[in-house]
Amino acid sequence: MDVRFDLHVHTTASDGTFTPAEIVRYAASEGLVALAITDHDSIGGIPEALSVAEADQSGLTIIPGVELSAVHEGHDVHILGYFLDHTDETLCRHLSDLRTARLNRATAIVEALTAAGYEISIDNVLALSGGGAVGRSHVARALVHNGHAADVSDAFRRLLGRGKPFYVPKDVRTPSEVLAVVVDAGGTPVLAHPGVTGVDDLIPALVDEGLAGLEAYHPEHDEVQRDRYLGLAEELGLLVTGGTDYHGIGAPNPALGSIEMPADVLTELLAAGRRG
Ligand code: AMP
Ligand code: FE
Ligand code: FE
Ligand code: ZN
Repeated sequence: MDVRFDLHVHTTASDGTFTPAEIVRYAASEGLVALAITDHDSIGGIPEALSVAEADQSGLTIIPGVELSAVHEGHDVHILGYFLDHTDETLCRHLSDLRTARLNRATAIVEALTAAGYEISIDNVLALSGGGAVGRSHVARALVHNGHAADVSDAFRRLLGRGKPFYVPKDVRTPSEVLAVVVDAGGTPVLAHPGVTGVDDLIPALVDEGLAGLEAYHPEHDEVQRDRYLGLAEELGLLVTGGTDYHGIGAPNPALGSIEMPADVLTELLAAGRRG
């Protein structure tokens, strides 16, 4: 049987619904060999994931990671950073700025919703985020909880998605600035779901600045997009990564570890991590 692994997973440290301990045990029970924890703008879930995996001795390799927010000409760009030094001061300051930007934005969204008659409070939203990096998913869950949306996808479709009445952009840095943070913290930067992001023209410049890989395998990529980024990675000498972008219960993602990828994807990412 092929080895299964997942290199893009969220926990309660951002907008996933499972705690790091829960996701580690779930991955082990599903027979995965490796799991990367990649929360939005947070590395808060990593210590717990590492210690649970070590205590359980299930043979599951935990890859520390993060999914950092950036913006380029109105496009949300997500940079995955694997094997970062989580004690790096610039990284920690950057993460703290990002979480402040997230809090300010969640507050602005809630104020706009309240003014329009949606009964929802920032305390509600923060309680749902449980101290993790707060985002639109938590606002969506609060709206569902208070009966203003049928489910999370409905809340995004009608209210919170880009171009919808309560969309507020995040005040975040450019991809170049974020790449520098990852590279300086010794991480391996990978462009998340490039087919969703739509900044292909920018990729060569990012490679010059240290971009090391493309996430070709992602549930929102069709086969044409997957093959396009596999080809581009080969052409540019980049790593290929992939994962389910797992967010847990109620999120529109496939089952943990369910994206099929060649074992080389994992081997080469681990090798890149060892090279630092
Ligand atoms: P944010 O980082 O606060 O801008 O929120 C982005 C997150 O919202 C993504 O990582 C997904 O977890 C979630 N999301 C975005 N679009 C949708 C959607 N249409 N349906 C459900 N969740 C979504
Ligand atoms: Fe998310
Ligand atoms: Fe993303
Ligand atoms: Zn993600």
